[in-house]
Amino acid sequence: MAAGSQELDPGLSNSYVSTGVVLAEFMFLGTGTSMGVPTLGCRCAVCTSDDAHNARMRSSVMLRFQDRVVLIDTGQDFRTQALRFGVDRVDAVLYTHGHADHVLGFDDLRPLTFGNAARLPLYADDPTADTLERIFSYTFRERDRYPTSARVDLHRLSSEPSTSIDLFGVCFQRVPVVHGRNVIAGYRFGSAAYLTDMSDIPEESFALLEDLDIVVLDALRREPHPSHSHLEKSIALAARIGAKQTYFTHISHDLDHATTEASLPLSMHMAYDGLRLTFPIAGGGHVSTREQA
Ligand SMILES: [Zn+2]
Ligand SMILES: [Zn+2]
Ligand SMILES: [Zn+2]
Repeated sequence: MAAGSQELDPGLSNSYVSTGVVLAEFMFLGTGTSMGVPTLGCRCAVCTSDDAHNARMRSSVMLRFQDRVVLIDTGQDFRTQALRFGVDRVDAVLYTHGHADHVLGFDDLRPLTFGNAARLPLYADDPTADTLERIFSYTFRERDRYPTSARVDLHRLSSEPSTSIDLFGVCFQRVPVVHGRNVIAGYRFGSAAYLTDMSDIPEESFALLEDLDIVVLDALRREPHPSHSHLEKSIALAARIGAKQTYFTHISHDLDHATTEASLPLSMHMAYDGLRLTFPIAGGGHVSTREQA
């Protein structure tokens, strides 16, 4: 095995397609819409379902590669997700946008930052960084900072479509997506891309989504919605992107896991909390595997 590559798990060793490929584990920490599923006060068939796939915490993902852990978003359920899925360290957080269901778990990063020599780097575009600084002002103010607030460094990412950052040897490319009246951040890393909270994909972003093993797309419900793509539209976008596998996330109680999954084209799937995927995040190569949670 080439220097710089590393097995995540002995069972994955046959997934290497060439030396130097760095595999990453992609885990869905949450796949639910902003209110979560079950939705408070609702007694519908999905909210009262016995199928654990229908229990959806707020949308977020964890990437693990080479002993590093990168999160995309920290919603209200972050602490529960971290306990359930064993998130015991974080090396960087990328934010997609400043909505409550993507940032309100920020404060629970605190204990994961106390023992580190360096501050935890966060990456967000200007509107999202402004939101984080406003809500969690006690963390960011220079004077009179709350002493046990999170030890973080907030880096502002340009909103230019070409923006990318290097994290631990992996390029994270910002992919602009339309979310209602806003343009927010999706991210591509290696042969995977995560586009939560989007109602459309700008024409210029399709060029950033070529040759993917995995794409994750918002698919809120069956009916159209002003700021989220609905299932039929997401299927059409997935077909145009042409990734080997598509996973849908940010799902409301309108979509039952099993019946919706059974209705999808073979290369498209309903994501669910705890689903783990493996894919090459650096060094080229194409392969992805799926593990049951
Ligand atoms: Zn959201
Ligand atoms: Zn419901
Ligand atoms: Zn949103």
